[in-house]
Amino acid sequence: MNLKLESKAIKAAVSQLKFRTQAFIDGRYVNAASGKTYASINPATGKPLTEIAACEAADVDAAVKAARRSFEQGVWAKRPPAERKQVLLRFADLIEENLGELALLDCLDAGKPITDCLTMDLPDSVHCFRWHAEAIDKEYDRVAPTGPANVAMIIREPLGVIGAILPWNFPFQMGAWKLGPILATGNSVVVKPARQTSLSLLRLAEIAAEAGIPDGVLNVVPGGGSVIGAALCKHPDVDAVAFTGSTEVGRQLLHYSAESNLKRVVLELGGKNPQVVFDDAGDLDYIARQALNCVFWNMGENCSSGSRLIVHRKLKAKLLARMIEFSREWIVGSPLDPATKIGPMIEESHLNKVLGYIESGKKEGAKLILGGQRALLKTGGYFVEPTIFDGVKPGMTIAREEIFGPVLSVLTFNTEEEAIALANDTQYGLTASLYSENVSRANRVARAIRAGTVSVNCFSEGDATTPFGGYKQSGFFGRDKSIFAHHQYCELKTIWMQLT
Ligand code: NAD
Repeated sequence: MNLKLESKAIKAAVSQLKFRTQAFIDGRYVNAASGKTYASINPATGKPLTEIAACEAADVDAAVKAARRSFEQGVWAKRPPAERKQVLLRFADLIEENLGELALLDCLDAGKPITDCLTMDLPDSVHCFRWHAEAIDKEYDRVAPTGPANVAMIIREPLGVIGAILPWNFPFQMGAWKLGPILATGNSVVVKPARQTSLSLLRLAEIAAEAGIPDGVLNVVPGGGSVIGAALCKHPDVDAVAFTGSTEVGRQLLHYSAESNLKRVVLELGGKNPQVVFDDAGDLDYIARQALNCVFWNMGENCSSGSRLIVHRKLKAKLLARMIEFSREWIVGSPLDPATKIGPMIEESHLNKVLGYIESGKKEGAKLILGGQRALLKTGGYFVEPTIFDGVKPGMTIAREEIFGPVLSVLTFNTEEEAIALANDTQYGLTASLYSENVSRANRVARAIRAGTVSVNCFSEGDATTPFGGYKQSGFFGRDKSIFAHHQYCELKTIWMQLT
């Protein structure tokens, strides 16, 4: 479906949408074995969109068995790399053909602005699949520098059956970031989307089959994290789990691995990311807009949200004045409206959590200078105003905890050393941005900040060629994107040959 960014076209497309609501196991849509379902709620209205199969451990087991069978039969893993590449390129083409539909599914299910889904999440996902497909027959294995009587090949082999556990904030895109390298390296996979946002991944499964990905290679099981997420992580026949989500649940996954079969665990976790603005920074209008985008994009429900603005004391008043002025561009509204930049929070409990953080900011003495209220109550949706706190101290809760909402905490500094110390004063280390016209300072500070991605004079997560993942408690072993993502889904094997 092609979709124009016009209200009329969007409304018409919504009325034609069909939801895939069953699990996808071994190439077929099936009900949960128990027959149970759960309601998927539209966060912009608080009303149910549809009922989805509520899978349990038995369904996970069926999906793992299908994945194992497909892996052992070699229908994907042993396919020549150039053929796997062709199938994945076709997969990317078909996703592109269905871009409008998939964008709408994420928009309705996660409350993400349609403009973002259609112009960012989905195009990035198509590119992601293409990039990993193209990489399949470009990377070589190695031959070790042995003496002439031996040949030692160091080859990469797929790990086997991988469980992919996804968050709700970028339902399709995080799926692409995991599935691109997992499938490119020849693995079979069982995907568990977030309970709140399964619709686009359930549709993707059918597209995968149409592209020629064999039955059993890609399975999707929807349901609750503590039920099927845990079942997948504890399953003795799963070789690895690739997870994106909270640090709290990520920590739990390491226990599951230790308690079961020592499966490999790859974790992409939370963040409390700094944006550092030095007194030698460039155009303040540009920086103000970048800084707002960094914290408010995707409603702040973003692991790389720059939720701590660390600004030089001399620049603070000027920068904040511009940010308040430009904050009017951050329109809160229906995710289906092309003009909307901030949709609802994912669910009521999360809205209350975000409002609770705003209350804690007030109570602990920070100064509210923008927003701070629930918005659009009449819609029944879970909207909150973009919010800025000035005068935040490093010990305050809003300076330390990941809020995962459109809430910015502003801190100040006087010296470069102080700025670095503040930036690093967190258990997390996912991303950071810094602004300075002095190249030497930018280089020095970028190296001093302990984070997986540091963007200089912009807010960026890099592109398909650059790894994305966290230092400290923002990650464990994992990197999404780039060729580095391939390596984590492979085993290294040495074949040592004695020659005569
Ligand atoms: P979450 O940890 O609550 O859930 C993530 C996934 O884990 C969901 O599919 C959930 O159902 C599942 N899950 C929950 N409990 C489980 C359990 N006991 N065992 C196994 N699986 C379980 O996270 P969320 O609320 O969906 O997403 C928000 C979090 O994700 C934030 O902390 C955010 O920073 C992080 N995130 C990180 C990145 C990154 O690349 N580093 C990207 C996006 C989101």
